[in-house]
Amino acid sequence: MPAKILVSACLLGDPVRYNGSDKRIDHPLLAEWQREGLLVPICPEVAGGLPTPRPPAEIEGGGNGDDVLEGRLRILDASGNDVSAPFITGAGLALRLAQEHGCRFALLTDGSPSCGSREIHDGSFSGFRHSGEGATAALLRRHGIEVFAHSELDALAARIAEEH
Ligand code: SF4
Repeated sequence: MPAKILVSACLLGDPVRYNGSDKRIDHPLLAEWQREGLLVPICPEVAGGLPTPRPPAEIEGGGNGDDVLEGRLRILDASGNDVSAPFITGAGLALRLAQEHGCRFALLTDGSPSCGSREIHDGSFSGFRHSGEGATAALLRRHGIEVFAHSELDALAARIAEEH
């Protein structure tokens, strides 16, 4: 049985982003994996209890998901409210779901304070990004799940092919 892949729900067309939109990717590989039942979708922020739409949120101080998981930095919404708790809860639920399904890989939407795996916003709400990862990507990686950004779909396919 090929490895299952945890996937950001917005990549499959679920309108769960902060602004009520999706980030659907129309790629034959993704459609094939979906047909084969290999995709395990989750939106960590919605799973953690946040509504849609919701204010945008960023990790403060140019920090990373690890800083949030270890309580060094917070995730703040655009009004300055501390929303770290639902983000951490959602990350934990994403990890549990991945483990329940035996996912060894994840394909996540880059740039998000939850799902970002290559870069995230810098906490200034000015559109600037830096290299880094969100809370869910960081927690998954801590537990040995290989995380790929949505721009790395072909790299993920190559990695999966190596295993078979
Ligand atoms: Fe998409 Fe992840 Fe943001 Fe949910 S938390 S909307 S799955 S990027």
